[in-house]
Amino acid sequence: MPKYVYDFTEGNKDLKDLLGGKGANLAEMTNIGLPVPPGFTITAEACRHYLGHGGMPEGLEEEIGEHLAALEERMGKRLGQADDPLLVSVRSGAKFSMPGMMETVLNVGLNDDSVLGLAKQSGNDRFAWDSYRRLIQMFGKTVLDIDGELFEHAMDDLKGEREDTDLDAADLQRLVETFKGIVRERTGRDFPADPREQMDLAVKAVFDSWNAPRAILYRRQERIPADLGTAVNVVAMVFGNMGPDSGTGVAFTRDPGSGRQGVYGDYLRNAQGEDVVAGIRNTVPLQELETINPEAYRRLLDIMATLERHYRDLCDIEFTIERGRLWMLQTRVGKRTAAAAFCIATQLVDEGLIDMDEAVTRVTGDQLAQLMFPRFAATAGNHRLTTGMNASPGAAAGRAVFSSERAVELAGRGEAVILVRRETNPDDLAGMIAAHGVLTSRGGKTSHAAVVARGMGKTCVCGAEELEVDPHARRFTAPGGVVVDEGDVISIDGGTGAVYLGEVPVTASPVAEYFEGEPAGDELVRAVDRIMTHADSVRRLAVRANADTPEDAARARRYGAQGIGLCRTEHMFLGERRRLVEDLILATTPEERQAALDALEPLQTGDFTGIFEAMRGLPVTIRLIDPPLHEFLPDLTDLAVKVALADDRAANRAANRAAGRAGGGADDRDRRLLDAVKRLHEQNPMLGLRGVRLGLTVPGLFAMQVRAIAAAARRVEGACAEIMIPLVGAVQELEIVKEEAERILAEAGVEAAIGTMIEVPRAALTAGQIAEAAEFFSFGTNDLTQMTWGFSRDDVESAFFGTYLDLGVFGVSPFESVDREGVGRLMRIAVEEGRRTRPDLKLGICGEHGGDPDSVHFCHELGLDYVSCSPFRIPVARLEAGRAALTCAQSDTR
Ligand code: PEP
Ligand code: MG
Repeated sequence: MPKYVYDFTEGNKDLKDLLGGKGANLAEMTNIGLPVPPGFTITAEACRHYLGHGGMPEGLEEEIGEHLAALEERMGKRLGQADDPLLVSVRSGAKFSMPGMMETVLNVGLNDDSVLGLAKQSGNDRFAWDSYRRLIQMFGKTVLDIDGELFEHAMDDLKGEREDTDLDAADLQRLVETFKGIVRERTGRDFPADPREQMDLAVKAVFDSWNAPRAILYRRQERIPADLGTAVNVVAMVFGNMGPDSGTGVAFTRDPGSGRQGVYGDYLRNAQGEDVVAGIRNTVPLQELETINPEAYRRLLDIMATLERHYRDLCDIEFTIERGRLWMLQTRVGKRTAAAAFCIATQLVDEGLIDMDEAVTRVTGDQLAQLMFPRFAATAGNHRLTTGMNASPGAAAGRAVFSSERAVELAGRGEAVILVRRETNPDDLAGMIAAHGVLTSRGGKTSHAAVVARGMGKTCVCGAEELEVDPHARRFTAPGGVVVDEGDVISIDGGTGAVYLGEVPVTASPVAEYFEGEPAGDELVRAVDRIMTHADSVRRLAVRANADTPEDAARARRYGAQGIGLCRTEHMFLGERRRLVEDLILATTPEERQAALDALEPLQTGDFTGIFEAMRGLPVTIRLIDPPLHEFLPDLTDLAVKVALADDRAANRAANRAAGRAGGGADDRDRRLLDAVKRLHEQNPMLGLRGVRLGLTVPGLFAMQVRAIAAAARRVEGACAEIMIPLVGAVQELEIVKEEAERILAEAGVEAAIGTMIEVPRAALTAGQIAEAAEFFSFGTNDLTQMTWGFSRDDVESAFFGTYLDLGVFGVSPFESVDREGVGRLMRIAVEEGRRTRPDLKLGICGEHGGDPDSVHFCHELGLDYVSCSPFRIPVARLEAGRAALTCAQSDTR
């Protein structure tokens, strides 16, 4: 039978899969001698069993019983013992921190008898009754699923104008009765008095909360697998609500917003943990603890330094001071903003705690992408309403909305919104995801809004206390009486905390400017520069761009592209040139066709010349024309209507003449065009006459493009052309095109590799044959995904992917991240069989996945030579290629 329960002394920080993050770190802190209240962890494996089988695994109850007995022995008192009760907290703790699953129950073990024992032992009646009411409140909400507002309203009614600390023991005793009444009324049973039953129900509630809607939403957003389950920690209670020499707080070992070293945190006197997060009273900055309790403060700073050295990273902590004595309740490697991630990684290198390899693995492409977001341009002249705390950076403007539902609704209509709340709680998650930014009037940098927004990379200003937020009236009032109603536009600056009325224009980020070639200036940009330089030095994958204009090519080059992996040529046939394509399609004789091609060729030569110049010295993969020809023709309905109207007018010519109107039949070109459109109309054009099929059926089209490439390559010194044939499914298709292309290149005296896209499943499955003719493969994973899944790439994402994601068919759209098992398997076959035929076959990817972090790692594992992505994603791909080289198992097939 597996072991389901671990004492804190038995675990360590590397057992997060089993013990969850919280449990593993509590064990680690215990084992490095920090003051952690004793306790034990029930494993995520037990949770998985519970969720999978609908019940606790056999033997678990006894195992919990044994560990509880050991805890009781150690503490010298039994759980809920009437004259001197041991109380415990029951807390969730998954492998990844999950704000959607915040089910914590404190003070388990209290009942009508043991509350008296607690009062006697502590000599503090008020504390005992306060602890009891908290238990019923938390237990009621999280375990018994009672609407938490019922308890809050009852407490507000009792408090009136008073603070919660003004309530005395008698008030709280009365509140306990009221709360018990709420439980009875809502559940039809009494609040469970048996301490062990309380504990067992709380454990089950934590397990169940794994599947709470908020948790599911968060997991999906963060791509956390749905089947991990959560561990549960049972910890001996220590009390921050024992009087003025007690309290509770949260802290970071450095500023999670900027990375700067210092003391960052909030402290709340005479309170228990959930009060800090809930924003019931305003916290004081952690520095004030130095005055309140100098000894505990010094001890805390010592512990924070120990933790940083031990974890070699920024840690966040929760602590409680019970009658002057400091206890550590939690630590973990702390969440941080993208900017802080880069700064901290390089600071730790300079402090000798990590090396540059590790620094590269400490940041992500997503974080880098966030740093490339624009910021507000000059804010002078804008009406600043107030300044709150700069909780999560970025700049956001949008309509103010006052509820999560409204945020989702307006965002669904494509509106930019700012979610404005007094404080947020996990129920606001959907609104936070939908909003461009979040603004709260209460809570510090460790409030729910701040922590969650930072994790999402969303702009957030919190604790803007000067704003009076009235969620019911859907408005807030700023100093000076300015009223902002729902729908009014505001702008928030997550870097400074400023809140503005109206829309403030935004400007590029210094990191984006650095990639554009500005010298590395401030600490952040220098950190990005160091990390990018190192990532470039360790990565094996080259990074190319998908670019088809000289401007895009030049930008891509500035961003570090090592060539063009996909130059689509179809846009070159649009605009004024469309008429030339129409001429080609309408041609009825070889002469007419050649005339149309002759007109197009010099234009194409000009296009390629510009791109070769921008990419001088670097490879440029030009893909011959791909989309169905009808895309270059007028719309069937429009044209049919035009022709019909003209014919109608012709039929009524006499009447028209009488009325003095001009009237003639449809002109000959329109009529021929309509015939061509009808002829070329396809029910399923993405699977029709496109790609290499066009090349084989429209004589001279591909040849014209190859001639233009050859002419441009001759013009530009250092041009390095590669010719790519799209949509090949059989080697024969490629052979025919290749033969003609090689002849043209030889005549022009130009050398260019000829290869193919792998975007039809058959191409992947016959890659060994195709490699006989292809000098390179480039995976077109957009089409390959479309054809492997049978998903129309233009239709499905908006049609039903939402439902598929909800149903868990996949955790992320396969058009975003390579579906490793399906599409990835085809890629693997193509890599292996292609290289078996041609060991020096060059391999790349040019679908959208080329700029997706997870897919970049997959391409590294497959042993591809390069990824190709849009110019703005190039820095992300460079960084992720570096991270992949440092972290991935590699299966290079050469
Ligand atoms: C692809 O299919 O992945 C690809 C890059 O080609 P396109 O998107 O132009 O079809
Ligand atoms: Mg394609």
